[in-house]
Amino acid sequence: MREMPSKQYACSECNLILPDPEDKKEIPQCPYSPTAPVSNDWQGLVIIMNPETSEVGKRMGVTRPGSYALKVNVR
Ligand SMILES: [Zn+2]
Repeated sequence: MREMPSKQYACSECNLILPDPEDKKEIPQCPYSPTAPVSNDWQGLVIIMNPETSEVGKRMGVTRPGSYALKVNVR
């Protein structure tokens, strides 16, 4: 599972999938929780369009539309 260098990073705090930085060697930071560790070891992509009406979004505590990982593993 290590041979996926192109996999995007996800924020470990809000589970937001982070867009690739322009410089691919850089690790992206979450715009909402910039101090939270990010990880490219995550599972389950959910796209939440309407956090107010989405059951998954409510359960995850999501307040902004976007792509989220269901589970983020931080080492
Ligand atoms: Zn975050």
